[in-house]
Formats: sequence, structure tokens, C-alpha cells
Amino acid sequence: MPETPYTTVPWYAPVTIPVEVAVCPACKTAMTVGTNAMEQNDDGSWQASEIEWTCASDPESIADDGYDRWLRTHDRLTYQEMVETEARVLAWMTAHVRFVDGERPHA
Ligand SMILES: [Zn+2]
Repeated sequence: MPETPYTTVPWYAPVTIPVEVAVCPACKTAMTVGTNAMEQNDDGSWQASEIEWTCASDPESIADDGYDRWLRTHDRLTYQEMVETEARVLAWMTAHVRFVDGERPHA
């Protein structure tokens, strides 16, 4: 099997998921994924094992006018929708994304 070229990013950097892989099940916009937990592969590289995602329509601040609306539409997602979406995203990240270990830089 040919070696897959991985994208290597710092673990604390958000990863934007290509829309052909998965979109937000509630509003169908692009998903951005943060990594909550990683696991180490046999070759020493790190991959995501737990993710937390948000989407392009998520308001930047809970003070935004649209936040209530966003919450109402996104609260309605079923457990199954969440699990299926996260499984697709994790499978893609496992195939394409590796993390560099290291400290999160202080702002
Ligand atoms: Zn959404």
C-alpha cells in the first residue's frame, strides 16, 4: 500500500474538515475540530482519539444575536447523528492528520 501523505499540525491547532468528508449535521456548514485526546501509533506519531467540533455558523460569542438560534438548531441533534458524524471525522483524521507533540504556546 502506498504511504499516505499526512498533514502534520500542532495538536492544539483546530483542523477544518473538508466538506466532502463531513459537514455539520444541523446546519450543513464546514466543521472545525479540536482535539481532546490523542493516541500514539506504532511509528511514534500521534493521532486524535477524541474530538470536539464546532461549525462555521457557530457565533464567535454567546453575546451574539444569532447564538440562541444556533443553540436551538444544534441542540436538536440526536445522539446517533453526533456519533455518526464524529466517526466520519475521526476516520478522516486518522487517515490524513498527525500531530506534533509539544507545549501549547503561551499567548
Ligand atoms: Zn452547525
